[in-house]
Amino acid sequence: MTLQEVITDYCHTIGVDASLVQGAGGNVSWKAGNTLWIKASGAWLADANRKSIFVPVDLIRLKDHVKSQRFDAAPVVLHRMSRRPSIETMLHSIVPHRIVVHTHPIAVLVHLVQAGCVEILQRRLPPSVSWLLVDYHKPGAKLAEALQRAIEHTALSPSVLFLANHGMLVGGETVNEVDHLHRQVLDSLRELPRPLDDCSPSEIPHQLIKRGYGLPENPLVHRIALDDICLLLVEKHWALVPDIVVFLGDRPQIFDTSDDVVGFIRFARSAPAFVLIRHLGVFIRKNANRAIEAMLVFFAEIAGRLKTIDHVRSLTRSDIEALMEWEAERYRVNAGQ
Ligand SMILES: [Zn+2]
Repeated sequence: MTLQEVITDYCHTIGVDASLVQGAGGNVSWKAGNTLWIKASGAWLADANRKSIFVPVDLIRLKDHVKSQRFDAAPVVLHRMSRRPSIETMLHSIVPHRIVVHTHPIAVLVHLVQAGCVEILQRRLPPSVSWLLVDYHKPGAKLAEALQRAIEHTALSPSVLFLANHGMLVGGETVNEVDHLHRQVLDSLRELPRPLDDCSPSEIPHQLIKRGYGLPENPLVHRIALDDICLLLVEKHWALVPDIVVFLGDRPQIFDTSDDVVGFIRFARSAPAFVLIRHLGVFIRKNANRAIEAMLVFFAEIAGRLKTIDHVRSLTRSDIEALMEWEAERYRVNAGQ
């Protein structure tokens, strides 16, 4: 098998695992000579086995941009390909390893959304793992710049880079090496979800059916509306990670009854893609972007593992505003439909 075939297989394997990447989130790159191959913006890793998801980018130019601190310079796509490379292209070029895998693992994010995550990582990771934690920065240029500064200021050459409120990058020379390290980190940090009685709604209120809503395919989504810690997180710390904001909006309204939803829709410019009814469930519009449910599951999985909201740290209002008005992210949402 060629390196590209091995990587394609690996992308599909991690792409179909919703505990590692959700929707169009996460990406993989490899460096071959003067080219960086990276996932196209908006492409799903899960689709790697049935369509081409990679874009070749000029690696020399990327390195020049990093050297001259032009972190917002657009990557130069090779072979006249029209698809945009991932918004994290610069980030991948900064990591020195040949193969770089960037995921948003639930097992890791449960810790990376907490103020004391550095102590948790120190306590739980084996000493053989060399890692670095980078504070939250808006994905793209700001995050690439922060990573470059962090790498410059360390004597280590870390193979694992944790990104607060975002995810992690693992670098290595072979797919096996990356895979092994990735699993090792997840095994050290894994948390079980809090128990919750299964009281998912089996039926959807008639008024919501009439307005085009249906039940989510994955009943886990209902946890957001049924579990009190999850409801508190929606109210106080909805923006746990950028993709929640980018795909689901800055904060959903919590409704008390389906009548309230109907009343809201009557005066709204457009019906929300999903509605959350306290202690009843979550309902999704039938024509919604397929990433909506993936991101709701993502939120439910992280929130369902937090034992308290006391130590949770979410994105600030200005972090959220910077994401909401970002054209690159709107492109990513639409490209992934
Ligand atoms: Zn990411």
